Amino acid sequence: MTRTEALSWQQSMIDRGSERRQNPDFLASLGVSSATLAGGLAGAESSESAATEASTDKPKSTAKVLALRAGKTLVSPGGLIYLPVSVTEQSGFAVYLGRTLGEAGLEEGTELLTVELAEEFSLEEFDLPADTQWQGVRQLAAELSIAESQYLIEANAILNWHRVHTHCPRCGSPTEVIASGWVRRCPQDGSEHFPRTDPAIIVAVVGKGGKLLLGGGAGWEEHRYSTLAGFVEPGESLEQAVLREIAEEVGVRIQSVQYLGSQAWPFPASLMLGFIAFTDDEVAKPDGVEVVRARWFSKAELLSAVNSGEVIISHRVSIARALIEHWYGERIEDVPQR
Ligand SMILES: [Zn+2]
Repeated sequence: MTRTEALSWQQSMIDRGSERRQNPDFLASLGVSSATLAGGLAGAESSESAATEASTDKPKSTAKVLALRAGKTLVSPGGLIYLPVSVTEQSGFAVYLGRTLGEAGLEEGTELLTVELAEEFSLEEFDLPADTQWQGVRQLAAELSIAESQYLIEANAILNWHRVHTHCPRCGSPTEVIASGWVRRCPQDGSEHFPRTDPAIIVAVVGKGGKLLLGGGAGWEEHRYSTLAGFVEPGESLEQAVLREIAEEVGVRIQSVQYLGSQAWPFPASLMLGFIAFTDDEVAKPDGVEVVRARWFSKAELLSAVNSGEVIISHRVSIARALIEHWYGERIEDVPQR
């Protein structure tokens, strides 16, 4: 298995239950507060019968809630902290994440939800470990298990969409949340709106002699280098986006492109599509806007630059790192920062 396969084609650790979540009574059957359902979720009109009707799909264990607050989540040194479903009484709405498929701090088969909590939300009523704190996903990523990072990425992705899609894009009316948090519907014109993902390409550009082209962005730390990346534009194929972005950012013409793997990157809504691309060009000229420095590395040069601290490459959890290591042929160990 290549480095990108190891990153990209990890088995999903959660069953999203796309059929289950269509049931308008499903969240109520998990114990989501009726106040929450009435406040944010259509389907509340039938929630009185929820307990009986939804019992055919009874969860194996008590539902848990992965709460986010201003993009941060609760952790202790033992991993993610999950709250009881009663926390939904204090959130605008709840979203069903799925049923866990492996054990990762949660029993297998646990029904998992996510909610967005207000800044002033108090944790006092919950019996949490003393060292519990709110932390950002990027800070956390390297410390989490595969399952935990999948839960957290899904929660961030769907809540980021809700945060900025509160109104109907056709008529401007406030929309209601349906399908256990996976659709928003306009009560005025009946239009339904689905979560969005923005495709972005990220590319390991390989040139003469097998050298890898890495670049640094404006505002980055001075020694940081990564693979080049950019958003796919409407009406554009992925391959066209690779050729365009690389030409725009560093003036390099790509001759061939090969897809390697992908990574969800919900900051706020990207799906990173990873490629290796080949060029005969030898000169890379940064555009000075998106990319402010560009440099070709042989394998020996990159390893030496990383080991000496002259160059810092992308973080272990990123697809950029997987692309770099795919080109390199094996894992590149991080050097402790001085
Ligand atoms: Zn509308």
